[in-house]
Amino acid sequence: MKLSGKIFLGIIIPTVIVIIIMSYFLINRSFDNNFNSKINIYTGELDNLEDSIHNTIDKNTGYDYMKVLELAGKYYKGKEKYIVLYKYRKLAYTNNEDFNEVDSSMLDVDDDSYTSSIKKVNNKHYSYLGLKLDDNNVLIYIRDIEEVYKYRNNMIKLCSIITIIIGVIIMFVAYIISKTLTRPLFKMKKEMSKLSQGNFDISLKEGKDEIGQLSKDFNIMSKELKKRNNELIEMIDSKQLFIDNLSHEMNTPLTSIYGYSKLLENAELSEEQKVKYLQYIQSETNRISDMYKKLLAISYKSNNELDIQYNKMDIILDELKNELKTKLEEKSINLIIDNNINEIKCDKILASLAISNLIRNAIEISDENKEVKIHIYEDNNNKYIEVIDQGKGIEEEQISKIIEPFYRVDKARSRAHGGAGLGLSIVTKVMELHNGKLDIKSKIGQGSTFILIFPK
Ligand code: ADP
Repeated sequence: MKLSGKIFLGIIIPTVIVIIIMSYFLINRSFDNNFNSKINIYTGELDNLEDSIHNTIDKNTGYDYMKVLELAGKYYKGKEKYIVLYKYRKLAYTNNEDFNEVDSSMLDVDDDSYTSSIKKVNNKHYSYLGLKLDDNNVLIYIRDIEEVYKYRNNMIKLCSIITIIIGVIIMFVAYIISKTLTRPLFKMKKEMSKLSQGNFDISLKEGKDEIGQLSKDFNIMSKELKKRNNELIEMIDSKQLFIDNLSHEMNTPLTSIYGYSKLLENAELSEEQKVKYLQYIQSETNRISDMYKKLLAISYKSNNELDIQYNKMDIILDELKNELKTKLEEKSINLIIDNNINEIKCDKILASLAISNLIRNAIEISDENKEVKIHIYEDNNNKYIEVIDQGKGIEEEQISKIIEPFYRVDKARSRAHGGAGLGLSIVTKVMELHNGKLDIKSKIGQGSTFILIFPK
């Protein structure tokens, strides 16, 4: 059964049951009250009758019960009051033959007491009251009590009508309530099925009640799912882009190598030409080898435990200076080092790779005889390694792009020095692995600052 149906019945059934039970008690109570008050009146009347019978007999000696009752019976008959006299348990007198028959239990009356019963005569209810006149005579006093039963029947009819009317009203209210309560759930169910089909654009009406809160959670969940889904799509896209770029980058030097080796097949080449072509082949092979090493460094370290230790900053810097000596000399670049920290907690190989990439880029972008500065310092939270150059700077909108794999601002220039656009994406990855980050600040015409931030 649908939830709305359950709510509907859950309201209707108990309400109708309560109304019926209440009506039942109300009707019975009022019937008992009416009945008892009528019987009280009739016993009062019977008492009066008894008194007048005894008075009459006392005053007029010679009158017996029969005589007195004959007189009273005529008078009472006109007033729809019926009397029956039983003498020696036998019918002795009646003022209406319809009431002659009396239950034998009615005749077993104690002194100063009554027997009573209700009998239906001619489709009407009558109250029978039995009274002992003396040891031999029992007087039965009969009164119409149909009015009380009629009143009860009318009450039953009235309560039935009221129950039906209230039932209809409650059915209507229950229908509205069940629909109102289940509408958001129904909407939620519809949206859920949309969600299961991959549509994350869902917005449910939020509120303060439980359903409203559930809708709120549902909205948060769908937003989160949408975000995750987009991230997943972006990841797949970027992976695809990475593969496309990688195959392109590999293909370019391979095509060159193939072209030069084809040229070398030509026997008529001069020695000078042969050396030149072989140098091209070597340079392209180096480029592939360099790319391979960088990719390997990243993929190896991503999949294996990092070797995080406290490393002396001076030692790292000395090693880097040696590594970059020739490059610096080629362009007469002055490398200024301002180191204010003793140690840094990092994977030495990866951190050196990141710093080296930044210095290489800085040298590459700088004109001859310029300065490249390395400023190293710390605050309460982090250690900072800044590589500052006096190059041409980077356009604002390029800053976020240059960290993407294979992205190069000036493709021709970058390719000429062997760059495949992997350096900064490697630096970013290294910083991610250290829970740190790479910050880039740049001003066109003034130079750039690349900041490696290592959390302490
Ligand atoms: P590559 O290895 O080709 O240099 P990178 O990922 O290191 O690749 O750099 C991506 C691009 O970012 C480079 O092509 C270069 O144009 C730009 N770039 C990197 N460092 C600097 C810098 N210090 N100043 C200006 N541009 C830079």
